[in-house]
Amino acid sequence: MSIVLESLYLRINPARYHYLKFILEAYDGLCLLSTVPEIAGCVCIRYPKEQAKKLYNLLSSLAASLNSNCIQKTPMSSKLFFIKTFGCQMNERDSEIMAQLLYEKEYIETSESDDADLIILNTCSIRAKAEQKVMSLLGVLRKHKKRKPGLKICVAGCVAQQEGKRIIERMPHVDLVIGTQNIYELAELLEKQDKPSALTSLADDYKIPAFIPNLKTRNKTDKQPVIFKKFLTIMQGCNNYCTYCVVPFTRGREISREADHILKEAYALVQGGVKEITLLGQNVNSYGRTNTVSKNDSNYTFSKLLRAVAEVPGVKRLRFTTSNPKDLSDDLMRCFEDVEILCPHFHLPVQSGSNKILSRMNRKYTREQYLEQVAALRSYCPEIAITTDMIVGFPGETDTDFQETMSLLEEVYYHGSYSFKYSDRPGTRSKTFDDKIEESVKSERLRIFQTRQDEICLEHNQSYIGKTLPIMIEKTGKKSLVGRAGTNHLVHLPDTVYDCNPGDILKAEIIHAGHHSLRGCLQDI
Ligand code: SAM
Ligand code: SF4
Repeated sequence: MSIVLESLYLRINPARYHYLKFILEAYDGLCLLSTVPEIAGCVCIRYPKEQAKKLYNLLSSLAASLNSNCIQKTPMSSKLFFIKTFGCQMNERDSEIMAQLLYEKEYIETSESDDADLIILNTCSIRAKAEQKVMSLLGVLRKHKKRKPGLKICVAGCVAQQEGKRIIERMPHVDLVIGTQNIYELAELLEKQDKPSALTSLADDYKIPAFIPNLKTRNKTDKQPVIFKKFLTIMQGCNNYCTYCVVPFTRGREISREADHILKEAYALVQGGVKEITLLGQNVNSYGRTNTVSKNDSNYTFSKLLRAVAEVPGVKRLRFTTSNPKDLSDDLMRCFEDVEILCPHFHLPVQSGSNKILSRMNRKYTREQYLEQVAALRSYCPEIAITTDMIVGFPGETDTDFQETMSLLEEVYYHGSYSFKYSDRPGTRSKTFDDKIEESVKSERLRIFQTRQDEICLEHNQSYIGKTLPIMIEKTGKKSLVGRAGTNHLVHLPDTVYDCNPGDILKAEIIHAGHHSLRGCLQDI
């Protein structure tokens, strides 16, 4: 007769662990097979299924003295996995997809890499520094695997795509390398695969699977955070070939998802409790341009999609990222005037203020065209917060070019920006340019840009003092709340005792401004 084993995770006061072990072992007829202390703050008891009733009776009588609560009951086959995500929101979303595929195979997620039977690194290669971080973590994991030989290590994302088999060759402790278009095959690959392998095919005719998230199948050893906002991927890849950028090589050709699949996903998210959706793509403005996304409408654009998602009942806030200015339509800008739930924040990466550098970057717009877009956006939505991405020290960038970047910062007066030193990436055209800028010059330009941007941020932030803004609550504490304004500013509400949940929208008056966040107090409560 085979014995069916089950596992039970208990969160228990660590001081009571030996007491629990003693009682269970001593208890007549209850076969305790193993206890694993401190799995993510829990103990795991593995026991034969037919003893379940006896175990539960015993635990309920001990509950008060153990100070414990049951986290989860799982079959014995369950394995723990840990995902570390590097880089952009696309990677965050891909990690969620991989997690769901694993939940469906009865894996459990842990936030402690030491406990995991499977570790996945979802990697980024946008700049050399991001890639170096992954490589050094893989070095640490080599030692970890020596201590725990059953551990499986999987590398996913852009470094996986770029380096492929080379990772397996150079790092024999890695079991699986899975490219950006192959993540949906993760669970099957883990089951089938018995020797280290790499799957990194990038197909030109790739189609994004109609994968609908199921927010109910989240198996985690930790307390589950309330899900109130989510990314929704609407397209993959990029066809723009900006000369500095590795994305077209690591994520392949641009492909848009069918509008129906996106809307189904939006409905599923709302049913799972989501209140805010961010539509995601490398260049959402060109959604629907490279392939048909609607059977009934051959001219289905991003603005149509945005308006359709805004109609999904229950969505309270809508955002999108990222937009290449070369494809920005007037209709999309007008959405900021007439789509009520679209947040007044536009992340519009410019990369440089110099037309010469923009042309060498292959961005296909000029500074003047960009400024016209900024003016139009502000006329449609005067309170809009505009943020950007900026690269300093691109090959051939002279002092005059950099001054043009600084003057663009003054002209647009960005609410915020992500700014980077140019970094050579494999396979890109700019890597072959021979007029590279010295590291010390790049660092100095970055410092000058960021110092001025910080001053401008503070000025913008101070202009909110005295205003009342709707804030979506993100974190609730015993005596404080933290939320986000539509403009994407983080708003702290200290000394606030109010019974609410993440995702609720409350009004707050702004009473203080810092460089990177605002402080407010709740109104009308
Ligand atoms: N698709 C977005 C766009 O067109 O603006 C950008 C996505 S990229 C993942 C994020 C940012 O990384 C870029 O906007 C750019 O500022 C920065 N970046 C990309 N390649 C870079 C490089 N080689 N060196 C420095 N920064 C880089
Ligand atoms: Fe990279 Fe340019 Fe594509 Fe953005 S638009 S992902 S910067 S190639």
